[in-house]
Amino acid sequence: MLIVQKFGGTSVKDAERLRNVARIVTDVYKGGNDVVVVVSAQGDTTDDLIAKAAEINEKPSRREMDMLLASGEQISASLLAMCIQKLGIPAISLTGWQAGFLTSSAHTSARIRRVTPDRIKKELDQKKIVIVCGFQGLSRYDDITTLGRGGSDTSAVAIAAAMHADLCQIFTDVEGVYTADPRKVTNAKKLKEISYDEMLELATLGAQVLNNRSVEMAKKYNIELEVLSSYTNTPGTIVKEKVKMEKMLISGVAKDTDVARLSVTCVPDKPGMVFKLFSKLAQRNINVDVILQSVGRGDTKDIAFTVPIDKGMEAKAICEKFADNVGADVVDYDDNVAKVSIVGAGMESHAGVAAKMFEALYEKQINIRMIATSEIKVSVIINKDDADRAVLAIHEKFFPVEK
Ligand code: ADP
Ligand code: ASP
Ligand code: MG
Repeated sequence: MLIVQKFGGTSVKDAERLRNVARIVTDVYKGGNDVVVVVSAQGDTTDDLIAKAAEINEKPSRREMDMLLASGEQISASLLAMCIQKLGIPAISLTGWQAGFLTSSAHTSARIRRVTPDRIKKELDQKKIVIVCGFQGLSRYDDITTLGRGGSDTSAVAIAAAMHADLCQIFTDVEGVYTADPRKVTNAKKLKEISYDEMLELATLGAQVLNNRSVEMAKKYNIELEVLSSYTNTPGTIVKEKVKMEKMLISGVAKDTDVARLSVTCVPDKPGMVFKLFSKLAQRNINVDVILQSVGRGDTKDIAFTVPIDKGMEAKAICEKFADNVGADVVDYDDNVAKVSIVGAGMESHAGVAAKMFEALYEKQINIRMIATSEIKVSVIINKDDADRAVLAIHEKFFPVEK
């Protein structure tokens, strides 16, 4: 069998954890399997590198950021190779580009265009364990790129897809995907299985246990994923197309505090206004999420929406220009907000799921500022200070603790 195993930052954070990873992968290798390992940078390395850059230049070029950030994964890959070699088993580490990752040239958030795993195959043929640096690739201009935070998950899935792997395991510091972040909600339950669609929503809405692009890719190429702990030897959560429906209305609650809310008031109430504003945002690659437009009053209306916080200021500048052009009134910016969401395929066939969420918020006197829904999710925008309380209350409503 060909098995791809990805290990996140905590799982490779020091010599002891690296030895643990070496044990896991060599056991699989000794079972007669080909093993490709994808690693993240150790512990907080990526954050530390970002901080180092900020000390030098508060607006560093994205190209140089990629040059810098890619070094983190090279440390863990080479150390793991040494660790495995020490056990007497052949291993080789490869950078993203040696492993054949060609990406777009959007530095710091590049997308994988193609993986050509010739070198990986050659090394596997020589019976080596191949360790690949996650999160990185090369653009067509031969520049080093990175895939955005959490991108190593996507690297692993991309290799699994390109090589038609039999198994793709994502090892992390919790035992799988839970009904909420198990570090914040002690009663969160581990899911046996979850569908790609639900996992994609959860990941996009803030559950960082899997990167959303990795789930998107797994769905596209139908790669079954297992999310499991590198600390315990327990079965994890399977992410796949169809899951046996458990008797659950929702599969999880997620929180995202990296959002900003913008509103433009007194926009002329005539066709084309929303188009004008949102096409400008799209041109700058700013993803707009929850959108609210008020009922027209007289001859004006208000438009409010959320964007990722790191695009907040750019979006605000666009709004101000738009307001100037069309004669709208005020632009209000607020990044003291959070998005809390519930996700579940069960919603499609059950009425009252959203009401149950709103009831949980009402009981805690938490004010809802915006709402967005789709077939399998409900998101609310609330004050940031209320976010943790909201997640707990909603989780308790849907998954009451059995007394
Ligand atoms: P890695 O470094 O292994 O990629 P991450 O820190 O990116 O690990 O993701 C794992 C973390 O995701 C967990 O420690 C947990 O706190 C968080 N998390 C958030 N939501 C969930 C969830 N629904 N299920 C499991 N973990 C979650
Ligand atoms: N090291 C990168 C990050 O911290 C990529 C990853 O861990 O997946 O975001
Ligand atoms: Mg991660």
